[in-house]
Amino acid sequence: MAERRALVVGGGIAGLAAAFELTGGPFDHVELREASDRLGGKIATSPFAGLDHVDEAADAFLRRVPPAMQLAAEVGVDDLTAPTDATALVWNEGLHPIPGGVVLGLPAAIRPFATSPLLSWRGKLRAAAEPLLPARPHGDSLGTLVRQRFGDEVHERLVDALVGSIYAADTDHWSLATVPQLAQVAAQHRSLLVGARRSRRRAPAAGGPIFAAPATGMATLVAATADGVIARGGLISTGRPVERLEHDGSGWRADGERFDEIVLASPAAAAGALVRPVAPDAADALDAVETADVIMVRLHVADLPDRLSGHSGYLVPKPEQRLVTAASFASQKWAAWQPPAGGQVLRVSLGRDGLPVLHLDDDAVVAATLDETARHLGLDLQPTEISITRWPGAFPQYRPGHVERLAALRAALPPGLALAGASHDGIGIPACVASGRAAARQAIERVGR
Ligand SMILES: Cc1cc2nc3c(=O)[nH]c(=O)nc-3n(C[C@H](O)[C@H](O)[C@H](O)COP(=O)(O)OP(=O)(O)OC[C@H]3O[C@@H](n4cnc5c(N)ncnc54)[C@H](O)[C@@H]3O)c2cc1C
Repeated sequence: MAERRALVVGGGIAGLAAAFELTGGPFDHVELREASDRLGGKIATSPFAGLDHVDEAADAFLRRVPPAMQLAAEVGVDDLTAPTDATALVWNEGLHPIPGGVVLGLPAAIRPFATSPLLSWRGKLRAAAEPLLPARPHGDSLGTLVRQRFGDEVHERLVDALVGSIYAADTDHWSLATVPQLAQVAAQHRSLLVGARRSRRRAPAAGGPIFAAPATGMATLVAATADGVIARGGLISTGRPVERLEHDGSGWRADGERFDEIVLASPAAAAGALVRPVAPDAADALDAVETADVIMVRLHVADLPDRLSGHSGYLVPKPEQRLVTAASFASQKWAAWQPPAGGQVLRVSLGRDGLPVLHLDDDAVVAATLDETARHLGLDLQPTEISITRWPGAFPQYRPGHVERLAALRAALPPGLALAGASHDGIGIPACVASGRAAARQAIERVGR
């Protein structure tokens, strides 16, 4: 019998999770090829401010959805830690706490909103009318729904600020269906406030922290998964882009080598370029996935003043944004991130969908970071160390209709090719892990038949 061979294209966390799953299957040969000279894709950790491990992008994953926690346990990541209980602020002509009783930015209780300085009286009255409003068609736009129900202020200062900062999104152009917790509340309740309150009551009693991360940074999950793949007999190469796919009977050739099953775990545009000669409709759909670029600036600064202690950072609502969209007081968020020489680490994010930043040179990035944080914090930060990481195509943008387009895309892919990664089934690390493993299981099932 011919050797059964599987290939994973892309060594981000989705591709690594796919390769890990494949090595537990019936293949004689499992190989992962990564185009760049390092594994991890959008996950990177490096020394900063005298610390060995400070993340340049993702710094945590959701603990309460299993896939990333499960992978971490399987590959032996045993230094998981949780953020402190520092809380986030929102900037609106000053820094304000996020009102209590919020479910994904939606008000689930009236009292904390009535007393919050984050909203004007007009905004509060508009939001308070929500339970009385009739249902109206809102299509698949998250922003349209929230503006209709609660008005512009709740949308811009809370929902867009929170959800938009997670995905670098402009939530007016974001698919509601891809935020299942909100979509579910909207599908089941005319009033989102009532629905949010019920879903909060139904949620299991707080079972520990919401987020987790290896104390040695997110790259530890990448390295441990790669080690797991190799220990189970898989092959991993970096600096090895896959450049050409061709049909070969019932299987495939990648750059001339035969494979039965291929998992495409690269960003959509790269997958589109590969499949164009064999599946042009799928290639068109892959090319149509838009992305937002972001820049992450790490700063080593003196200790923040007492008025900012107990806070993990702040979000800047869309109407107030120039280039900075959020800042994390990273040393207040993570107990392990205390620079040995004193002071604190801040991580400042620039750019989102509709707010381009990649044209800025380093001087312009630093100037914008310092000017805008000075305005937000009332402080001249005077950093002693700065690092800038540019993330082109950082966040895929799930436009309204994403779920239907994805189903059509999968239907247009020839057998033996499976998709995984942030461009498709969810952007967070747990979703990327789950999509990698699901694509691998699909390949295992096909080869078993
Ligand atoms: C700044 C930032 C902060 C984030 N913060 C968080 C967070 O706190 N928590 C969280 O859960 N998520 C966070 N995310 C999102 C999450 O990190 C990403 O969505 C996820 O890591 C993407 O993984 P992936 O494997 O799908 O894709 P990628 O990481 O993009 O990996 C794809 C890989 O494919 C490779 N490739 C491309 N073309 C080819 C080819 N032809 N041949 C071979 N290889 C190829 C690329 O070089 C790349 O390494 C953040 C993302 C960013 C950018």
